[in-house]
Amino acid sequence: MFLDRDGTINVDVDYLSSPEGVEFIPGSIDAIRELNALGVNVFVITNQSGIARGLLTESDMHAVHGAMHAAMQRHGARIDDFFFCPHHPDAVVEQYRKRCACRKPAPGMLLEAAAKYEINLQASFMIGDKFVDMQAGKAAGTVCIQVCTGYGTAERAAAEGTRDYIADDLFGAVQIVKSIIHQRRQSYE
Ligand SMILES: [Mg+2]
Ligand SMILES: [Zn+2]
Repeated sequence: MFLDRDGTINVDVDYLSSPEGVEFIPGSIDAIRELNALGVNVFVITNQSGIARGLLTESDMHAVHGAMHAAMQRHGARIDDFFFCPHHPDAVVEQYRKRCACRKPAPGMLLEAAAKYEINLQASFMIGDKFVDMQAGKAAGTVCIQVCTGYGTAERAAAEGTRDYIADDLFGAVQIVKSIIHQRRQSYE
């Protein structure tokens, strides 16, 4: 399971740079706990161009992820790993200025996760609010579900032909995933 971060799990406040700024979208922690219960690994796939723009550092971002890990743990949920892209072609910070293969809509982060954890991408899902999430998921071969939180409503029309499903929010998306996984498991029996 690949999840976008901002606008999907937590409220998208432009360039989240501190743990205090983490606000979970209602139901998102419950949704991740349900994914854990299904026995699927949960990976966050996030563009963090604020690092390239000099608005936050990698260590600021790791502090945010640490706070998210802690909040998940308090609620009995778990994110298995975070994959992030700190780059931007017009970066202010030179070391991050590149046209990389990881910034969504490119599928690089999903491919990296797949290699690291031996994931079958065709059996995987990408959930996110933006068109680029759907494009990255499709390019990697996953089933794609767009959520209407974050930029989801604004980018709903743009992602129309790319996504496979649409849901109100992450909790709703996970209900779709559960029914698909349930069907797949039945068909194996
Ligand atoms: Mg997003
Ligand atoms: Zn990148």
